[in-house]
Amino acid sequence: MSTQNFTYTGHPARVIFGFGTTTQLPDEVERLCARRALILSTPAQTSQAEHLAGLLGATCVGIFSGAVMHTPVDVSEHAVSLAKEVGADVVVGVGGGSTTGLAKAIALRTDLAQIILPTTYAGSEMTPILGETSDGAKRTQTTLKVLPEVVIYDVDQTLGLPPGISGTSGINAMAHAVEALYARDSNPVISSLALQAIKALAVALPKIAKDSTDRDARFDALYGAWLCGICLGSVGMALHHKLCHTLGGSFDLPHAETHTVILPHALAYNAPAMPEVMVALEGVLGPDPALALQKLARSVNAPTSLKEIGMPADGVERAAFIAMSNSYWNPRALEISQIRDLIGRAYEGAPPL
Ligand code: NAD
Repeated sequence: MSTQNFTYTGHPARVIFGFGTTTQLPDEVERLCARRALILSTPAQTSQAEHLAGLLGATCVGIFSGAVMHTPVDVSEHAVSLAKEVGADVVVGVGGGSTTGLAKAIALRTDLAQIILPTTYAGSEMTPILGETSDGAKRTQTTLKVLPEVVIYDVDQTLGLPPGISGTSGINAMAHAVEALYARDSNPVISSLALQAIKALAVALPKIAKDSTDRDARFDALYGAWLCGICLGSVGMALHHKLCHTLGGSFDLPHAETHTVILPHALAYNAPAMPEVMVALEGVLGPDPALALQKLARSVNAPTSLKEIGMPADGVERAAFIAMSNSYWNPRALEISQIRDLIGRAYEGAPPL
């Protein structure tokens, strides 16, 4: 370990982890001294929301199953009106980043406490970050007001996550840990969590692709995803997240798939500027970590090119230009022709260089 000074900020959250932990929800609501819970989900996860309503009985005062990707402000305002109408004193979100985003948006506007039961590996539940969209633009803010108070990780809630989404969602999580290793404000606490998380997911995801009901692999993947969420919430991100934000926003590309395609290329780009990080990554991913990440994507049948997830061929140039338009910290200096090459290789699904 290096002997450099560092700052570590821990975000307070109560975490319950394991199999069957959903049954602890009524106790957790009571622990917060709450009596009127509004349950949140996406339309596709209404049955999971209804299951929670059954557990809570009369403490559940409503279900809002209208959460959608990218937290549109109009949906959040609708949910806030419902929360006020039913007199909710806690929101309970069951789902992935979309549902957690809605819970955070409600907390931002009402100060209601949040209990989150994550069902994907996105990691939003561990961050004080909220990205909201209105009029086609996404605005991201960081405030402790949106940090969930309680997170119940129940591996059983993830067993139904389809194998395809499991692979891309897991690699999306790994991207948080990879970038945490070379963050400007990286620190040894987060780096050790990051390496543990990358290893857990790299081993678990191919097992889940073969058998999505492999309970041990699901346990390891969710554990890794939790740690990846801590990484994302604790230190700053760089080129990879910036590129994914640009590509997602400008070309309406799917979130987790975009992360999966870009990660090997962003890592390969930064590799020459951080040899010690690459050595640490070799310890958990094997030789040539960038190529190993692309192989991991293939092994879980995830996309490895931007063209197969809907990027237009003429978008490469524009994406490079947008990605360079705002300055941000990155371990290696950004040069437009090299960023264009990086996006071009990601477009084709070529090996990372
Ligand atoms: P998601 O929440 O939209 O879930 C993807 C789809 O899978 C949805 O249709 C959902 O209903 C379904 N699903 C989720 N869990 C399931 C399960 N166990 N079984 C069956 N179906 C299930 O997607 P996501 O990738 O989890 O989150 C992406 C969103 O989260 C994006 O908007 C992204 O910007 C945001 N995000 C925010 C942060 C943050 O810190 N603010 C971090 C990561 C992601």
